[in-house]
Amino acid sequence: MKRAAWAHLRLSALEHNLRRVREMAPGRQVMAVIKAEAYGHGLMRVADVLAPMADGFAVSCMDEADALRGAGFRLPLLVMQGFKNERELRQAAHQEIAVVAHDETQLRLLETTPLSNSLKVWLKLDTGMGRLGFPTQRAAAVYGGLQRCAQVMQPPVWMTHLACADEPERPENTAQLERFEAATEGLPGLRSLANSAAILSLPRSHGDWVRPGIMLYGASPLADRDPARHGLERVMHLQAPLVAIQDRAMGDTVGYGATFQCTRPTRVGVVAIGYADGYPRHVPNGTPVMVRGRRAPLIGRVSMDMITVDLTDHPQAAVGDPVTLWGEGLPVDEIAAAAETISYDLLCAVADRVQVTSQS
Ligand SMILES: *Cc1c(COP(=O)(O)O)cnc(C)c1O
Repeated sequence: MKRAAWAHLRLSALEHNLRRVREMAPGRQVMAVIKAEAYGHGLMRVADVLAPMADGFAVSCMDEADALRGAGFRLPLLVMQGFKNERELRQAAHQEIAVVAHDETQLRLLETTPLSNSLKVWLKLDTGMGRLGFPTQRAAAVYGGLQRCAQVMQPPVWMTHLACADEPERPENTAQLERFEAATEGLPGLRSLANSAAILSLPRSHGDWVRPGIMLYGASPLADRDPARHGLERVMHLQAPLVAIQDRAMGDTVGYGATFQCTRPTRVGVVAIGYADGYPRHVPNGTPVMVRGRRAPLIGRVSMDMITVDLTDHPQAAVGDPVTLWGEGLPVDEIAAAAETISYDLLCAVADRVQVTSQS
């Protein structure tokens, strides 16, 4: 069942943002990251738009890559968590899907599993993220091990992931870059380090393949939370209709827990979107929404299917008006800050029941 709320996608903004990646990292190959349903924008919809422009697509798991191959996408695909077992490894080779190898179990499977055709492997080093990857001291040994895998295309691509790229001035960034450069020095193979934040702020990390995710969707990867400063255009505009307007007296309270009390006669608008649609439940009073091109503050708690907003200063607002929760004039980054989270979280959380509309 679909809801009254809708997420309108401007597909031309996706294209614009990919061109922006190429401006920021000229001459590098672009592995567009479309994991997690393309950060909540829809895997196939985004793949359709970006396929003619990207050099490859990166996803998290084999099922996502399988869906893309099944839909007929022929460009290079990379599964960033790699294969979990022999079956996934065989499937990757069969469908010509590149895989990240990050641990010894995977190396053993690469040595022992018979494959229908040869396989492209990206070797991931843990240079400080503390999550996936071989220890940097093992780089040469891992490379040697991979040489013994007859079915692996040589050389591999070397990759790592930065833990603090959203705060470019932090010393951890340089430390990770130096560890990566030292560990891979003299080893053949292309290099890939940069996510969106590093593309925008750490040119030394650009390597051969960049891996932009969030910037493609027009949100800022940096702590500044200002996508316009980086020339990015927002893709998703989350909207819902105003379904009621009520006049409340001074002293009346609004919503669950009676956490908001009117300090003046207040025109309260009710908007048909709530936390079950993916609007964050814990944003405070005062979080902005847009009505008729102007901001109005949220008041009271976010409910499952509704929010309440103060329209006292918006006398023209009428039932049926579309209200923007984020999008034009209201960056998702700003709502994420109010919710004490990041834009990624809000975009990925938009619920299935929200209708998606798009324009090219
Ligand atoms: C998700 C992911 C990216 C993209 O990160 P953004 O911050 O969205 O640009 C790049 N590399 C890896 C390994 C990832 O998991």
